[in-house]
Amino acid sequence: MAETVFARIIRRELPAQIEYEDEEVIAFRDINPQAPVHILVVPKKPIPTLNDAAEEDIPLLGKLLWVARHLAQRLGIAERGYRLVLNCNSEAGQTVFHLHLHLLGGRPFHWPPG
Ligand code: AMP
Repeated sequence: MAETVFARIIRRELPAQIEYEDEEVIAFRDINPQAPVHILVVPKKPIPTLNDAAEEDIPLLGKLLWVARHLAQRLGIAERGYRLVLNCNSEAGQTVFHLHLHLLGGRPFHWPPG
């Protein structure tokens, strides 16, 4: 599997503004933010896309939501509202093939998205 920029951030070979880290998950600011709060919540396990997740990854997938919720509360956007986005494969706009959740907040979002 091809190495991604997120693998290099996890190994501290590239800088990132890290907001959360434990043994399984890292979360850092998106380099090209689409909202005042734009954080990527990333499993350290290099799962390329959601399609590649296995049944054994179910707890890890749940943890990504839990960490996003924790960060939303810590960063003060939980009550106003926030959006979680997971792009799967190229037609959805996925560009980094290491599964991640986008946590977006601090401005209004519209539905349906464009
Ligand atoms: P996606 O389009 O869902 O694959 O999202 C990939 C995201 O990674 C984009 O929003 C990029 O701005 C972001 N990104 C790419 N390289 C970096 C980096 N070195 N540090 C932080 N975010 C990055």
